[in-house]
Amino acid sequence: MSPKQHTSKVVTRFAPSPTGFLHIGGARTALFNYYFARRHGGEFRLRVEDTDKKRSTAEATQAILDGMDWLGLVHDGDIVYQSKNADKHRAAAEALVESGHAYLCYLTDDEIAAERETSRSEGRAFRSKWRDGGSAPKDAPFVIRFKVPDGKTTIRDQVQGEVTWDNKDFDDLILLRADGSPVYMLAVVVDDHDMGITHVIRGDDHLINAGRQKLIYQALGWDVPDFTHVPLIFGPDGKKLSKRHGALGVDAYADMGYLPAGLRNYLTRLGWSRGDMEIFDDAGVTEVFELSDINKAPARLDFDKMAFINGEHMVRADVDTLLSYGKKFFEDKNGGTLNTAQIDRLTNALPHIVSRANTMIELADKAFFVTRERPIEITGKAKKPLKPDTESRLRDLLSVLKAIKNDTWIDQNILDHLQAYIAKEDIGFGKIGAPLRACLTGGAASPDLSLVLELLGRDEALGRIEDCLNTYF
Ligand code: GLU
Repeated sequence: MSPKQHTSKVVTRFAPSPTGFLHIGGARTALFNYYFARRHGGEFRLRVEDTDKKRSTAEATQAILDGMDWLGLVHDGDIVYQSKNADKHRAAAEALVESGHAYLCYLTDDEIAAERETSRSEGRAFRSKWRDGGSAPKDAPFVIRFKVPDGKTTIRDQVQGEVTWDNKDFDDLILLRADGSPVYMLAVVVDDHDMGITHVIRGDDHLINAGRQKLIYQALGWDVPDFTHVPLIFGPDGKKLSKRHGALGVDAYADMGYLPAGLRNYLTRLGWSRGDMEIFDDAGVTEVFELSDINKAPARLDFDKMAFINGEHMVRADVDTLLSYGKKFFEDKNGGTLNTAQIDRLTNALPHIVSRANTMIELADKAFFVTRERPIEITGKAKKPLKPDTESRLRDLLSVLKAIKNDTWIDQNILDHLQAYIAKEDIGFGKIGAPLRACLTGGAASPDLSLVLELLGRDEALGRIEDCLNTYF
């Protein structure tokens, strides 16, 4: 199906305020902007809304950039820093005064407090007595306020449908503060216009701002962008997302062992659906992404589903991807950097183990037996199968295994040899399984014994059994 045609090139943007990390709600908004732009061959821009000097920090900006980088969200063009556009914002405010859509307001703090009180008790929005002009007090400080026109304002939102406000419910908001600094509401409109943004896709906490912003666009004589307000993400219990629920930075999900591709898939699917698409990559979603498929109801975080989807992406990932994203987890588990032999064993083993894990942490756990260094320390419960009477069995097994040549050291062949041995001895597999596993893995979680033997490689496996015989008997 070909994408819906847009008369102008689609330009979207992600516009985070750098006051913290890139949280998953923001990441999902960014993904929707990204896929929509890619779908239409358009541009995905990044604007850092750093006008709130007190709350914006360079560290937070960096954390957002790092989060986007990790997630693979590549933006087009240069990053726009809102604070650098203050002159353009001021010029727009002045143009609005010039055209009669905004006015200089000299209300004192006391007068503002009084008008707030009166407007509240009369159930109407804030209006300044200066909206119709008057003779200005000499040298008094002033702000520039927007002169909200009469009438109603309607937007046709891609998710929320038609939304209408009565303008009398909108305050005559400040556009420019007394110190000449622009407010957010003006800056967003001017920057979106300046950047040629055609589609504004953001959280539905900004829905009411769309009404106010539309009035500003119209007053400036500019085209109004298409709006999409995406419902927020809630916690698994349906309550507002908190830290406890997972309202964390994308970096925290990296630390929990998710792959970027898995998190991208999960976050996109969370609040967007298309037929029975569950597991998809960027190309798959880009091909079909439509804003109309964003769900109207708020989404709930579901960690089981996140893990499931991530697991599917881990299985699809190549070994190099698993090794690079898994590196720190494998090293943590191992207590240090891995040597070449360990990395070779991992490379060999990961494809056989990956389907048993949904996160890189789980994978590191399941792959631990592979990287353990000789001699493996066997402690606690893991030592239990190494009873004195198992020594002769282990010695037998060592010679059975030694008889297998390196080029036939394969799972099924190893299993055949082990089975021939237990048949000859007339014993069950249990008699050899537990002590052999203890020697080979030190008790770490591991797949079937014959596969463990294959994955360790002949020399390492035989060495571990010898170590075990030398140390524990
Ligand atoms: N900077 C705003 C925020 O982080 C977003 C503004 C917008 O998308 O229009 O919530």
